[in-house]
Amino acid sequence: MHPARRPEPMSAIDTLPPLREVIAAHGLSARKSLGQNFLLDLNLTAKIARAAGDLTQCDVLEIGPGPGGLTRGLLAAGARRVLAVEKDARCLPALAEIAAAYPGRLEVLEGDALRIDPLAHLAPPVRVAANLPYNVGTELLVRWLTPPDWPPFWDSLTLMFQKEVAQRIVAQPGSKSYGRLAVLAQWRCDVRIVMDLPPEAFTPPPKVRSAVVHLAALKQPRFAADAGVLQRVTAAAFGQRRKMLRAALKGLAPDIQAVLRSAGIEPTSRAEDVPLSGFCALARALEEAAPG
Ligand code: SAM
Repeated sequence: MHPARRPEPMSAIDTLPPLREVIAAHGLSARKSLGQNFLLDLNLTAKIARAAGDLTQCDVLEIGPGPGGLTRGLLAAGARRVLAVEKDARCLPALAEIAAAYPGRLEVLEGDALRIDPLAHLAPPVRVAANLPYNVGTELLVRWLTPPDWPPFWDSLTLMFQKEVAQRIVAQPGSKSYGRLAVLAQWRCDVRIVMDLPPEAFTPPPKVRSAVVHLAALKQPRFAADAGVLQRVTAAAFGQRRKMLRAALKGLAPDIQAVLRSAGIEPTSRAEDVPLSGFCALARALEEAAPG
């Protein structure tokens, strides 16, 4: 199409007021202590919602809706229902306006996402989408990745992180970013970075770049291992990543060198050189050496 005839870019995804007006009307000045960096561009939030895949048959769990930019993106994208968990009570009136515009499709729970169990409020299939508060993002991700049983309650996670955290999730062995998050995420999910955002995309702008990561749950983990043991091994191994594994892991078994060898890992190697398959073999060998 000739540029002159291109339609005006869509400035609204729904009939609700622009987010700047919502924030002014409800006095939602951003609070650093709650990790509040808001996305005000609804075209951008609609794009993040699209990255979460087809939502029309899904319940979506959103953590930290704030003034509701991403919430509106998810609803406009056709999410069957959105369950939003928000700690900041100041945001509730703004979210109630969104709920009224999408009858029966938005439920808001006020509280701390680290304490609330949302499962009773969700029907499968469930996808998770969030511009996560930085102070709780990694902890929530690790919880979602490490339930004892698999598959989990969700089919996919589409999450905004600081770019450095996003890179740690998709990192490969041998790189500086490779660590516990890469192992836990790639063990049970296909992971990819789907979007890269500059600080100016947010109000107020954070100090660092951000990125959206999409994690799709595999039907089964790539390799057998116990989630708790794998967590312990990776925490110990990467907690002292410059040390040889025989030293970093010495508290985990009386003869850690033998356990490492039985898992096919050289005791003198370092955590960042061990691939996912190696960590899973190590978790299994540790369980054999010290069951329970
Ligand atoms: N989703 C909104 C957006 O994209 O503009 C806001 C994102 S802002 C980075 C993070 C949001 O998480 C804030 O609304 C904040 O109040 C909320 N929040 C912070 N800690 C939380 C917690 N522990 N549980 C639930 N929400 C939390």
